[in-house]
Amino acid sequence: EHVCTDEVSKAKAASKSAGQPTIFSKILDKSIPADIIYEDSQCIAFRDVTPQAPVHFLVIPRKPIPGISDVTQEDEELLGHLLFVASQVAKDEKLEKGYRVVINNGPDGSQSVYHLHVHVMGGRQMTWPPG
Ligand code: C5P
Repeated sequence: EHVCTDEVSKAKAASKSAGQPTIFSKILDKSIPADIIYEDSQCIAFRDVTPQAPVHFLVIPRKPIPGISDVTQEDEELLGHLLFVASQVAKDEKLEKGYRVVINNGPDGSQSVYHLHVHVMGGRQMTWPPG
């Protein structure tokens, strides 16, 4: 089977630069702007520049972990914190009817930025399975 959407080809190209600094490092050091809606000592949350739902934000650790497959036991608490922050910001965004939390990983997961990020999408009915 050959799937080749724009998203998928972008993700495949991006996987080749795994381990390099990403656009999210620049958002973290504020050398490029982002609509940051939450920050603390471990993470930030900002609105996705290409929203896939009425509300779509990303929660990213300050630590530059490339993806969920790269974590170690040392990151266990941080991972819990990212999900906790996702739930709190979802509340601030008034997503009381529900939302979806997604982590894309690697080429098959269509990951396009190799800095770990948790997607939170809401404000519309989600469908299953995802594409
Ligand atoms: O999971 P994936 O790696 O595909 O997601 C990366 C996300 O980062 C995309 O949803 C993209 O729109 C978003 N992005 C962003 N701001 C940038 C670059 C990418 O919000 N400057």
